[in-house]
Amino acid sequence: AAKRAGGNRMHAFSDDMRVKVRERLDAEARLRDALAGDPVETLPVWFQPIVSAATGEITGAEALVRMRAPSGEILGPGHFIPAAEETGLIVPLGEHVMRRAVLRLIEWDEHLGYVSVNVSPRQLAEAGFVPMLANLLAAHPELDSSRLVIEITETALLGFSVDVRERLAMIKALGVRIALDDFGTGYSSLTWLQSVPADVVKLDRSFVAGLAADPRKASIIQAVLWLARSLGMTVVAEGVEEPADWHALRNLDCPSAQGYLFGKPLPPAEFAATLAPRRIVEQAA
Ligand code: C2E
Ligand code: MG
Ligand code: MG
Ligand code: MG
Repeated sequence: AAKRAGGNRMHAFSDDMRVKVRERLDAEARLRDALAGDPVETLPVWFQPIVSAATGEITGAEALVRMRAPSGEILGPGHFIPAAEETGLIVPLGEHVMRRAVLRLIEWDEHLGYVSVNVSPRQLAEAGFVPMLANLLAAHPELDSSRLVIEITETALLGFSVDVRERLAMIKALGVRIALDDFGTGYSSLTWLQSVPADVVKLDRSFVAGLAADPRKASIIQAVLWLARSLGMTVVAEGVEEPADWHALRNLDCPSAQGYLFGKPLPPAEFAATLAPRRIVEQAA
């Protein structure tokens, strides 16, 4: 009987695998169609606010890509970024996101300090990435390039033959700022801090959620804040949902934060509506 059950499990597993493979192929085909068709419509770039602890104002935003399915349904990046990375479609997708982000930065000039754009390891490894960025900035001389931030994760440092540090130095030479995304979740966070010329540390949500009730989390955040400050970097706490956690972050002197408490990612028009007049986030917690 045990053997039979095992056999059934194997069967169920392979059905599951088939579903996963089909979903992956669907995602790839949709992504190809979207990029070849009308990416502005089918791959909209949404924006989530980043607020200053000192003033409660929205000082920046993170650009987050979405996919509009033919049904009209909006899919999050988890549905298509992995396929994009595997197939290399992340390169044209990433360029599209960067262009949209730069256009919005210019459009929202007086109302928004900066926009932060996720750049995947595969994009960074591509020889064309820095020239693409340089050309884009050269095409918009009115844009102060320090208003653009690129977010990279630790995996960008691993597993690629190109010298990522050299590439990051070239990006910094363009005046673009660099943020370490999901900081604290990888294997070599301190190596990161030591070796990468970053300007911003984005403290992962796992340290932030439940902070107010967990003194160990508070200690870790305090240490990261201290380290970042001594290295001349600023910190954004990710995934702030609870007023109590925001209160605790401000008590620790965390300079800025992002999370559902302040706003979810929104389409550009809706995001812009929260900028004018400048929204003051409730300080009471
Ligand atoms: P990320 O860069 O860490 O982005 C933050 C994610 O956390 C976003 O999910 C955001 O909606 C979510 N989030 C923000 N505040 C909260 C909160 O208070 N609570 C919770 N539970 N979640 C919160 P999203 O938009 O689904 O993006 C997921 C990931 O996909 C991003 O993680 C990023 O790694 C990747 N991604 C998104 N857009 C792009 C892109 O244009 N290019 C690349 N390469 N990756 C992207
Ligand atoms: Mg990010
Ligand atoms: Mg993040
Ligand atoms: Mg994160």
